[in-house]
Amino acid sequence: MKYVFDHIQTINELLRAQKKIILLTDFDGTLTPIREHPDLAILPEEVRQILIKISNNKMFFLGIITGRSLRQIKKLVNIQKILYAANHGIELEGPGIRVTSPEAKKARCILWHIYMRLFNSLSHIEGIYLEDKGLTISLHYRLVEKTRDVEFITKTLSSIIKPYSERKTLSLSTGKMVYEIRPPVKWNKATTIQWLLTNYFPLNFGEDALLIYLGDDKADIEVFNALKGKELTIFVGSPSDTTVADYFVHSPEEVKTFLEHLYKQKCKSDHEQPEKSDRPI
Ligand SMILES: [Mg+2]
Repeated sequence: MKYVFDHIQTINELLRAQKKIILLTDFDGTLTPIREHPDLAILPEEVRQILIKISNNKMFFLGIITGRSLRQIKKLVNIQKILYAANHGIELEGPGIRVTSPEAKKARCILWHIYMRLFNSLSHIEGIYLEDKGLTISLHYRLVEKTRDVEFITKTLSSIIKPYSERKTLSLSTGKMVYEIRPPVKWNKATTIQWLLTNYFPLNFGEDALLIYLGDDKADIEVFNALKGKELTIFVGSPSDTTVADYFVHSPEEVKTFLEHLYKQKCKSDHEQPEKSDRPI
């Protein structure tokens, strides 16, 4: 993976080559630093302002794709007329689209049953946060300090979920200090973006657009794998050999710098001839 700001001229050329940009980004750990508790995450106002500028510019299409529920992410981002792909794509809402996976809705009763079992078995553990997101459940253990408590959580969760995952009525995945319990639907971040690229963007934005994707977690790595070589993918965090994004930045702070650069560069390239002495940021 290459560091974005060491290769900004190459990125600038890519931006100039495509008239339109689809900017899809994860939220937690990408636009905002990961907080100890998910309720503490807020979108920094400077980032929100640059996202508003991007969303108001006809050369850009902006979408937020997240594991959070639709209700939560809309409240946190609070920008109108952009695409929200929530619960890893199970809930989609944006210009010309509003859809919730019917299969996911069917699993709602099972999810509620699992939520109550997990609550009864684990809520005594200090630091645990069990989050009912309507169509998925998140079990956060970032604030659980004792190793034996984390082991107990993992063991208990596995034994409760096992019969359901064997029958393929639920699936379990992991993120940064979080377990995600999801209905057995095909929608994840990668499949959702593939669907949008085929069925949504050509109708709602145009055929020829460069997709830029930013993300920091395991679910985002699935997107990097799916898009490899075709679009511009940016991992947020420390680079590793196993992450297959094209580029990386170190932090959400650098994501903000990149977004500002992207906006200025794209507006400039639409109005002016690029200068040879052009320097990043
Ligand atoms: Mg994230």
